[in-house]
Amino acid sequence: MKIMKFGGTSVGKPERMHSVAQLITKDQEPKIVVLSALSGTTNTLVAIGDALAAGNRDAAKQHIDTLEAHYQEFIKQLVTTDAAYQKARKIVAEHFEFLTIILKISFSDALSKDILAQGELLSTKLFCVYLEEKGVSHAYLSALDFMSIDANDEPQLSVIKTKLAQTLAQHAGINLFVTQGYICKNVRGEVDNLKRGGSDYTASLVAAAVNASVCEIWTDIDGMHNNDPRVVKKTMPIEVLSFEEAAELAYFGAKILHPTCIWPAQQENVPVKLLNTMQPDAAGTTIRKEASSVGVKAIAAKDGIYAINIKSSRMLLAYGFLRKVFEVFEKYKTSIDMVTTSEVAVSVTIDNGQFLQQIVKELEPFGTITVEENQTLVSVVGNEIAQTQNILSKLFDSLKEVPVSMVSYGGSKHNVTILVPSANKTQTLQLLNKGLFGLE
Ligand code: ADP
Ligand code: ASP
Ligand code: MG
Repeated sequence: MKIMKFGGTSVGKPERMHSVAQLITKDQEPKIVVLSALSGTTNTLVAIGDALAAGNRDAAKQHIDTLEAHYQEFIKQLVTTDAAYQKARKIVAEHFEFLTIILKISFSDALSKDILAQGELLSTKLFCVYLEEKGVSHAYLSALDFMSIDANDEPQLSVIKTKLAQTLAQHAGINLFVTQGYICKNVRGEVDNLKRGGSDYTASLVAAAVNASVCEIWTDIDGMHNNDPRVVKKTMPIEVLSFEEAAELAYFGAKILHPTCIWPAQQENVPVKLLNTMQPDAAGTTIRKEASSVGVKAIAAKDGIYAINIKSSRMLLAYGFLRKVFEVFEKYKTSIDMVTTSEVAVSVTIDNGQFLQQIVKELEPFGTITVEENQTLVSVVGNEIAQTQNILSKLFDSLKEVPVSMVSYGGSKHNVTILVPSANKTQTLQLLNKGLFGLE
């Protein structure tokens, strides 16, 4: 069994969906195909939810109308027969009727999740209409039947494994399954999701659950590049990454992968391949258990970081101090990315500022607290990077003009992370591209 996940741009146009159908029917290996919403759809659904949350029904209605017009056009080019077109029209009508009804009922967090789920439901159902028109034998699976998260919003692989096996058992003789990325059920039985970009996570969880031969993530670029191609001009694809390297790159901001999507595949030792739908023959990136070559592989950046500094000459040396500090973050379910300590101060970074005020208030008895907003974490990732000769001198030589405010080195054998003001992010990525990869 093989998992093939296609992202938003890979299904965003009717002709792209046609290419996906070709890619998934190239060989006979049984497959579960995981689809994202058409590109742009989830952003619009977020905008609809935001407008409703703000009580602005007119704005929500406008977004819904624009999105519906987009789908009406999309299906005209997706299928050719009238029978298929009528089926597609019915699907579009049903989902937009739902969106129109929600304009009339009172808004809640649960309802916002229902709204967000419409994108993946539409893309998978429309794709199945196209497959049926082409005579491709397949089964549609609702991810809501097997993807679930626990009380901490975490997916439990063992639960997913059992439910997915039950779902698949209902379709004996079928070799091709199509399901939604991103969406799931929560402990209250409501529709929920795996956070933005979560279709990658679905693919990896499904791959681990069925012990797939490979988990292929098909997107709009030929694999993981050595630097963020949206920020730096010259970047190059990386052929092989270990699970650890890929997980660190994803966690530290390489947008091509959802931050936590590597662990399920890693747990069951399923290789992950990053491939390009527009260039299916390109090698892409293989992510696997065996270590790749030693040395620097890539640079990733994560924006929207807060740095919190706690200065306390009295308490820092006292045992138990760090535990008390960390407990405050634990209480507010806010995870810490980076920590540095000195004799008189401890600095931590967080990427979720939802409870910042409460956290700062609870830290105040420990010392003087300062907060820096608009910071960016820049991570240099590579196998055994800590043992790579001259890496630190090369890194800091490259960054002479950049105001680096924190450094983390040695916690992991696979990364060196620095904190810079977001205003200096582009400069930092460009300078490191030159200093570490010789690319300008
Ligand atoms: P999908 O919709 O297929 O999930 P995403 O937009 O989530 O695709 O991810 C692909 C994008 O990730 C690329 O178009 C690229 O701009 C961006 N990206 C950021 N960092 C990297 C990187 N290091 N290597 C490759 N792509 C990256
Ligand atoms: N459609 C969702 C998003 O845009 C999930 C995904 O594409 O991975 O975030
Ligand atoms: Mg993505």
